Amino acid sequence: MSQEQINKLRFAGKTAIITGAGSGIGKAAAVKMATEGANVALFDLLDDRTEQTEAEINAIRPGAARAFDVDTSDAARVEKAVLETAELFGTVDVVFANAGINGVLSPIEDMKLEDWQHTLSVNLNGTFLTVKYAIPHLKKRGGSIIITSSINGSRVFSNFGMSAYSTSKAGQVAFAKMAALELAKFKIRVNVICPGAISTNIDQSTEKTDELKEIVIPVQYPEGSQPLREGPGSPENVADLVAFLGSDESIHVTGAQIIIDGAESLLR
Ligand code: NAD
Repeated sequence: MSQEQINKLRFAGKTAIITGAGSGIGKAAAVKMATEGANVALFDLLDDRTEQTEAEINAIRPGAARAFDVDTSDAARVEKAVLETAELFGTVDVVFANAGINGVLSPIEDMKLEDWQHTLSVNLNGTFLTVKYAIPHLKKRGGSIIITSSINGSRVFSNFGMSAYSTSKAGQVAFAKMAALELAKFKIRVNVICPGAISTNIDQSTEKTDELKEIVIPVQYPEGSQPLREGPGSPENVADLVAFLGSDESIHVTGAQIIIDGAESLLR
């Protein structure tokens, strides 16, 4: 692609930080925004998948992606990686705070404090830290923050054992709205997306305890779980929404909570 062609793209000259960029929704958003001209900083626990994402994007546009070994719940690592991103690419314009885990699923009375804290720490503290350390950079010329919450914690409360997860996801919604108002004067927009079931690797971060079966109430649905298109969404479906919220096409949208679930949560 020539420089002239790149300059016409939606994210030309912009830099996006994406957490959880090695898999699923984060990866799809990174590929989408990079394909549309962004430089992308891929924050994830460095493993083969993150390096693979970096290689895939750099094959499309050499130098557009850089993988950073970041645990989003570790303040020092987040701060360092954000700083290195700004030094490498020159700006920070879009922040997609997306990394998350399902964590341990357990009845509340059996939930270990350390398991509760781990889920809250990755999902909620991680979001706070990513946003916090990006603000000084975003303030320079305005920008867009997108946070991945879930229908769990906003519209759905019937996934048994997910009290820590749903609490973290509810917290993200409140945090996004507080941040939207606080940061509006700096022309920084903040929106939160709430996906339903999306086909990703999230099950790898899910640990069901034996006690779980003691609290489950069978929930019966009408036929089909996602009435709109009969099946889970794809990471690319979510990436399209993220790219819209990250771009100037959504210039007047902030503090919004957008459900992307094919009407799944309306059935519950
Ligand atoms: P995924 O497991 O495919 O991707 C999540 C990525 O986050 C992984 O690459 C993982 O390594 C990374 N990650 C986990 N802990 C991290 C940490 N401490 N620091 C840095 N990176 C970390 O899952 P996904 O479905 O793409 O999940 C992305 C987000 O979407 C999560 O916040 C999740 O809660 C949310 N979500 C997913 C679904 C779904 O059905 N898949 C539904 C609603 C919300």
